[in-house]
Amino acid sequence: MPYQDLVKVYEAIESTSSRLEMTEILANLLRSSDCAHVKRIIYLTQGMLVPEFCPEKLGLADKLYLRTLAMASGVSESSIRKLWNKEGDPGTVTEKVLENKRQTTLFPRPLTLDRVYETLLKVARAEGSGSQEMKMRLLADILHDAKPHEAKYIARIATGRMRLGVASQTVIDSLALAFATREDKEAVERAYNVTSDLGLVGEVLCREGLEGLDRLHVMVGNPLRAMLAERLPSPDEILERMGGRALFEYKYDGLRVQAHITEKGIKLYSRRLEDLTEGFPDVVRALKKAFVCKSAIVEGECVPVDINTGEMLPFQEVSHRRGRKHGLKGAIEEYPVRLYLFDCIYLDGEDLTMHPLSERRAALMQCIRTTEDIQLSEARVLSSVEEVEDFFRDALIAGCEGLMAKSLGDDSIYRAGARGFLWIKYKKEYRSEMNDTVDLVAVGAFYGRGKRGGMYGALLMATYNHETDKFETACKLGSGFDDATLAILPKKLDRFRLPEKHASVESRMEADIWFEPATVLEVLGAEISVSPIHTSAFGRVREDAGLAIRFPRFTGAFRDDKEPRDATTTQELLEMYESQSKK
Ligand code: AMP
Repeated sequence: MPYQDLVKVYEAIESTSSRLEMTEILANLLRSSDCAHVKRIIYLTQGMLVPEFCPEKLGLADKLYLRTLAMASGVSESSIRKLWNKEGDPGTVTEKVLENKRQTTLFPRPLTLDRVYETLLKVARAEGSGSQEMKMRLLADILHDAKPHEAKYIARIATGRMRLGVASQTVIDSLALAFATREDKEAVERAYNVTSDLGLVGEVLCREGLEGLDRLHVMVGNPLRAMLAERLPSPDEILERMGGRALFEYKYDGLRVQAHITEKGIKLYSRRLEDLTEGFPDVVRALKKAFVCKSAIVEGECVPVDINTGEMLPFQEVSHRRGRKHGLKGAIEEYPVRLYLFDCIYLDGEDLTMHPLSERRAALMQCIRTTEDIQLSEARVLSSVEEVEDFFRDALIAGCEGLMAKSLGDDSIYRAGARGFLWIKYKKEYRSEMNDTVDLVAVGAFYGRGKRGGMYGALLMATYNHETDKFETACKLGSGFDDATLAILPKKLDRFRLPEKHASVESRMEADIWFEPATVLEVLGAEISVSPIHTSAFGRVREDAGLAIRFPRFTGAFRDDKEPRDATTTQELLEMYESQSKK
């Protein structure tokens, strides 16, 4: 197929703003094309060479492209740069440069779709030493043979700026129109959602028609588009929508991960289908240990945890782990993560997308032996508003964003790529911030792990209850200590060490080491929440819980000027909690 035919279609698409017209133009092209070309047409039109989850990406740096154009056209880099500064678009610049250049070849080889596609793929795949030169040479070669208006699109795609405005939905509509009817677009969409590959869907549709799509199933190694949730503001609306009963799960605040597991290896993909595998070798190792079947696709949320307290950390911490090529080992130690699995989409040869949630959850339990690093999402079947509110509170205490309600009906399939009411999220929109620091007393400590091996990993901190003259715990403090502080902690604290818990300390937690309440540290937290494991103001807000400071951080200030009984009191913490709730 001459590349020119594709370019004509691009020009027609660019000249319309009507999506309907765009759909028809693309449908006509697809219908009249050889099935062998359909895949490549679809990829190129969307500015890609392969589906999103594959590694080959275009997006040549502007500087490199500019040199390539100079090489292909014989025009100086400085005059191209001038034009570039004026035009801003590599496509237009390329077209103009090639229009104005003197003819240097008498016999250019007309471009075909295949030649353009294959060359671009080689450009995307070139790696290692000498790869820049190679990319330039390959690209210059096709630019050289291209007519100016053809080169315009080659320039755009090579620099990652195709932007024809042909969204996936338009391609889906065009495919239905070209090879079936408009009404069949749902079947096309489903095929796309389970394969994430419109090129493949197009080719199958062209060769085998709609029946062909039926055999497109979920495949291990080929991420499917994530199922998404709707939102409702209250438990009663959620329960009503769910028919009075649903599976409620903690809504973890992390990074969504789709894990594809086979005996050969494990691949991890993000919600946007990016390959995350290299950045999370620890998750891969942990999954390998926890997985007891042959092959599967499981889904979960990857959450950063404090290595010393085991508590969940704010989502931002996981960002230290993403896209990191250097210092990965250190980052893994410093920012460990835990995976909470909540779905199983495929197991040992069986596509489970059309199975109800209860079966998928059972499959998950069948193939995973939970470990410290791989756990199942906290889940409960609930049917009353009170139960949901309680569970919601527990979720917030645990450091989650809220709850996910999931339908348990017969129709509770895994709807890849769709946002619907089979899953409903219930989030606390408003979280007040603690803007005052508190001064807490160290009453215990926990042994360090990882980088903190041989040191204190976290301290058990307490408020002072002046009514009972007791020290009541409010958090485990593991953040905010720099290396120097960690090194001096034993010196400061060891002289207060006790063989057992001090009589004035109220704790429901068993510390590794106990201290006489003596040392006061200044702490800043994100907010105050109720907690069944801490004893500060126990029973005052809720019968079976105390108050806890979430995401506590040492400010660096040892309040040696304060006696332990001058520390923040339980009564003050309660006031802070109440004024926070009022807000
Ligand atoms: P949102 O990003 O607010 O639309 O919420 C949807 C996201 O919540 C999903 O994409 C997941 O990354 C995340 N999530 C956390 N916990 C769960 C869970 N138990 N089930 C499903 N999704 C969850």
